[in-house]
Amino acid sequence: MEGQTKNIDQNDGAEDLTVFDTGLNVNNPNLAVLYYKNHSSHTCNNLKIPDFEKPERLTDAFLYLKNNNIFDDSRCNLISDIEKASEKDLLRVHTKSYISFIKNYSRKGGGFLGDSTYVTKDTYDVARTSAGAAIRSGNLVIDDDYSYSFALLRPPGHHAGKSKYGGFCIFNNAAVLAKYLQQKKGIGKVMIVDWDAHAGNGTMDIFYNNPDVITLSIHRSPHDFYPRTGFMSQIGEGEGEGYNINVELPVGSENLEYKLAFDEIVIPMIKRHSPDFLICCCGFDGYYKEKTVQMNLTSKGYYQMVKSIKSVYPDNFVILMEGGYHKHNGKLCHSVINALLDRPNPIHDDLNYTNYEKEIQKKVYNKALGNISKVKELFSLPDVDNTVN
Ligand SMILES: [Zn+2]
Repeated sequence: MEGQTKNIDQNDGAEDLTVFDTGLNVNNPNLAVLYYKNHSSHTCNNLKIPDFEKPERLTDAFLYLKNNNIFDDSRCNLISDIEKASEKDLLRVHTKSYISFIKNYSRKGGGFLGDSTYVTKDTYDVARTSAGAAIRSGNLVIDDDYSYSFALLRPPGHHAGKSKYGGFCIFNNAAVLAKYLQQKKGIGKVMIVDWDAHAGNGTMDIFYNNPDVITLSIHRSPHDFYPRTGFMSQIGEGEGEGYNINVELPVGSENLEYKLAFDEIVIPMIKRHSPDFLICCCGFDGYYKEKTVQMNLTSKGYYQMVKSIKSVYPDNFVILMEGGYHKHNGKLCHSVINALLDRPNPIHDDLNYTNYEKEIQKKVYNKALGNISKVKELFSLPDVDNTVN
């Protein structure tokens, strides 16, 4: 596997911020938050299906941010004029027949497609706006001197493959951005880090043979969980072997396990590959209140993940929204925004475990540790020794 022979700097601590410094003033970072109203017309209100992926996920989050005066800070600008991705933009990722299928199905009024995914008469346009928001996020960072951009977009994208919808996703927004950057902006290596609670199987599918887009997904183990793929053993194929990383975390994983995965895998992998551009796929469905997912992240966990990324990649990255269906999405967005702008985490939602729960969490930690060690072995990263007794 080629990844094994790549240079691993065993001494490069997280304090080394100069490696990826692009010259922007990271002491005073500024942020573009993208949000567009027309996402609301992609709704399953008239379909008799569970409505997890509904407009309120974003409308409520946006309202929360507005009510908390996020945009009064001159360092945090709202961008709402989003253009739709063109068919050409989509074709860099998806097959022509798939794009035509979605377009025609949508134009005819849509309906439930299966695999938790639906289409309305407006979905083709809204999904293109979602992909357009991803592209705009990249442009804002590259052309307009923003340190970061954070796109509140829907439908999400990371389950959508080259010619497949799934898990609420129509077009793969992160992949559309990655290909756009490489083909239109001359960007070389792109890395996609995905911390949605579900594996980013669509992104994996698209780049499985491609060494120029490194994909890293941290998610609840898919053995008994959607999308039932995204296993640690899936490391890429052909030229892409060694460039697809899956970190399976056990049910019940919380801030501690995610921190371990970041310290031991995500950060070393960013350093190893030193990508020219970084895309984070941010799902909020690992939040402890998301009962159907059964992970235990709090706002501090999301805050820490963003801080951790910043410790080695101080500017010039984007965060795209994936899943997250709880009414607390707005609060979690606030945590992410504050992490980006070097402000304290504004949300206080620490969990108090009973002694019994503490014992369970120890088991979760040790299971996570075992999985993380396996991934490190697969990719020849140094051993972990963080066992909790
Ligand atoms: Zn998810």
